[in-house]
Amino acid sequence: MNDSLLHLYELQKVDRQLDDLVESRGELPDRVNEMRAQVQDQRQQVEQIRRDVHEVESNSKKLTGDIVELREKVDRYKAQQFDVKTTREYDAITFQLEDAQRRLHTNMEAVSRMGIELEQLKMDEQQMSQDLSDMETELGEAETALSEVLANTEEQEKELLKRREELASHVQPFHMTIYNRVRPAKGGIAVVSIKNGVCGGCFNAVPRQLVLELRKGDKHAVCEYCGRIIVGEPIAIAVDGEPEPVTYDVESEEFESGEENEE
Ligand SMILES: [Zn+2]
Repeated sequence: MNDSLLHLYELQKVDRQLDDLVESRGELPDRVNEMRAQVQDQRQQVEQIRRDVHEVESNSKKLTGDIVELREKVDRYKAQQFDVKTTREYDAITFQLEDAQRRLHTNMEAVSRMGIELEQLKMDEQQMSQDLSDMETELGEAETALSEVLANTEEQEKELLKRREELASHVQPFHMTIYNRVRPAKGGIAVVSIKNGVCGGCFNAVPRQLVLELRKGDKHAVCEYCGRIIVGEPIAIAVDGEPEPVTYDVESEEFESGEENEE
């Protein structure tokens, strides 16, 4: 089996895992940030509506106090009307009485309006507080998930990068060059194995002659449709078939560059 291809195939696998890892991280932090902003916004809205409730309540309280005073005034003016000696005094009292009655009426209407407004505000406040509480719970869960993902992936990433370095050191520059060129253009997959005579990347048929050549795992082919590096089945089995990192003490073989490998 070709040592360089074997390592390249596993390198591809490791790079996929690294891609997945970065991808899994990429979405969660964004989502958590978005949720944090929404919670912050909701908190401000709840605070605002609580201030509104408080303001309406205190206005209503003040007006209610005024109403009590105005009622007393009205009663007093009505009593005074009976005690007046002159028409002028009567007119003056009547004027004050009517003014007090008008203000009493206006205040009572305002207090009644505020009562309705307050009821609505309190209902809204309750709903918004409930929503906030739900959002905070969800955020808490997402933050926990994020910290777990970060903790897990940090360790995993270190291991994968270390493994990648090891593998890369065994891959021939020639293979690495094709790999680096093809991978970004092909959705991160530059090396595939042949499966039932088709390219494992684009599933187009591989010419019969190449299928035979790939059988031993000592050569690679470049797919004429997708441009990916195709390796033979023995390499895929050696890498994917065993959970442990691949060991190899295969007889060294001629690389395409013609280099010799010492055992
Ligand atoms: Zn292909």
